[in-house]
Amino acid sequence: MSNIKHYIDGIRNGGAYFTIDKKMLVESIAFAVINAVYTILFYLVSNWLMMIYSAVSVGIFAGFTTALIKKKKYSATAYVTAIVVTIETILATITSGFSTGFAFYSFVLITSSFYFTYVLKKDKRNDFVPLFLSLLFILIFFANYIIDKVMTAPIYAIENKGFSITFFALNLVICFGATIVFNFLFLWEISLKETTLESQNETLTDMAHKDPLTKLLNRRNMNDFLDKSAEDMKLTGKRFSLILGDIDDFKHVNDTYGHDAGDAVLVNIAEIIRSSVRANDAVCRWGGEEFLILINASGETASNTAERIRKSIENTTIAYKDQEIKVTMTFGLAEAIPGYKVDALIHQADDKLYIGKNSGKNTVII
Ligand code: GH3
Ligand code: MG
Ligand code: MG
Repeated sequence: MSNIKHYIDGIRNGGAYFTIDKKMLVESIAFAVINAVYTILFYLVSNWLMMIYSAVSVGIFAGFTTALIKKKKYSATAYVTAIVVTIETILATITSGFSTGFAFYSFVLITSSFYFTYVLKKDKRNDFVPLFLSLLFILIFFANYIIDKVMTAPIYAIENKGFSITFFALNLVICFGATIVFNFLFLWEISLKETTLESQNETLTDMAHKDPLTKLLNRRNMNDFLDKSAEDMKLTGKRFSLILGDIDDFKHVNDTYGHDAGDAVLVNIAEIIRSSVRANDAVCRWGGEEFLILINASGETASNTAERIRKSIENTTIAYKDQEIKVTMTFGLAEAIPGYKVDALIHQADDKLYIGKNSGKNTVII
């Protein structure tokens, strides 16, 4: 049970395997490493301003945001990251030009803002926040382009073609790579969540429709079947019949063998009945040890079925622990006639069952 809770908590955290703090930590460390590389590259192309900025960014991502994550300040971490990166793109463009490819970071910020909005789901999530942020990031991208256009020349223009290409290629790979990773994670986590929800739904549907002990239909669901059969008869004249069965002297079974043995008997009887009817018939645990069977056929067919079930139960010995239990069952049968109400039909079957109980039990009364 605690395992399941742990698993579901994991999914709530935005993924079964990685919790939100792990993800943000990975992102923060990745940015620290990337900025360490930029520090070296900018040193090599003598862009002192960017060298210092990148070095400071290493400190921010290795220290400050890591500390924020430890304090569970995830939103703050995301915003600090976005601000540091945005400033970096603009400074890089001003000092070394648009062709360095730093403006591509806008794409990463767009996808990551959607992803983290999803992952950082609070009680009241605002899905429009990443939309507005995205518009801002597009503007920043365009601003980078305009800065490059209006500048006469970058302060630290990169003359060396090799370095020029290195910057562009590195940023291209990092930015498009990160965009792919964020999209993939998004898709993957939604799939995981869907799978969990589906299985939870299945369990809930089962709980809503089935009797937990015998796994037969419960009373509520049986009523739907009854209404449907009544409707079908009205429209197409299709006949159906009801069999109400009650285990004989079940109190005695409980008293003699114990309540758990009684439960085992119920499970066995349920299985006998279920395997004795056709797939389009419906079997329900109507009450404690009462079963209601809907047979989509005439009274004659239904009475044969009831008789078959009765004999089968009579001939069955139920083994529970080292005890052998034999029970019998009495059945009352009613065939639906156009114009009949379902309630009246059940009443009729119940009356027949009562007659059966008073005439020695272990019988089918039609
Ligand atoms: P009869 O032949 O007239 O039907 O006699 P009976 O003893 O079966 O009488 P009755 O129908 O009044 O008793 C039903 C008993 O079934 C009473 C109750 O304790 C028992 N019972 C009802 N639900 C359960 C259950 O889920 N498990 C077990 N073990 N016993 C149950
Ligand atoms: Mg009863
Ligand atoms: Mg009984």
